[in-house]
Amino acid sequence: MDLEFLQTVDPQILVGVAVAVVAIAIGAIFLFSSKKPRGVLDPENFRDFKLVKRTQLSHNVAKFTFALPTPTSVLGLPIGQHISCRGKDSQGEEVIKPYTPTTLDSDVGSFELVIKMYPQGRMSHHFREMRVGESLAVKGPKVQGLFPQ
Ligand SMILES: Cc1cc2nc3c(=O)[nH]c(=O)nc-3n(C[C@H](O)[C@H](O)[C@H](O)COP(=O)(O)OP(=O)(O)OC[C@H]3O[C@@H](n4cnc5c(N)ncnc54)[C@H](O)[C@@H]3O)c2cc1C
Repeated sequence: MDLEFLQTVDPQILVGVAVAVVAIAIGAIFLFSSKKPRGVLDPENFRDFKLVKRTQLSHNVAKFTFALPTPTSVLGLPIGQHISCRGKDSQGEEVIKPYTPTTLDSDVGSFELVIKMYPQGRMSHHFREMRVGESLAVKGPKVQGLFPQ
């Protein structure tokens, strides 16, 4: 850059330009660092999530913790919406039911479902049989207000 040119410019303009450059740089850093991570859910296709922990809360209620693909992944489910979970009933037939995670997108790396399992329930059977290390097929978000499948 021609420094002689700078000597001809009003110092106040130089200070103004410098302040503007610094402000834009700070704004860009803030924008990129506060960018929300994208969720891993797909509303169209089921994705498998591995069960990493199962905690029995009562005789028929358990908390299931599923791992997300990376420790910094978020599920990506807006508040008030729910997911569809796919499993097999006691006859081996496919069943899909809606569930609401008890975790939020501020929770990274995993998500939790608290499930009440009914003796005759079709999806209840799937959750009752699920063991740590197995995967659950999940898709979403599923918009509130639609009838459960
Ligand atoms: C938006 C939404 C979110 C949901 N989130 C959750 C959640 O986070 N956790 C959760 O545990 N469930 C949740 N549910 C309920 C869930 O979708 C299933 O309906 C439930 O797990 C029972 O499914 P099933 O296939 O085991 O029972 P089904 O095969 O549908 O029912 C078989 C039998 O189970 C018994 N049964 C089923 N549902 C009930 C009930 N509600 N009350 C009493 N008896 C019943 C009855 O005897 C029934 O005849 C949610 C439902 C909706 C609509």
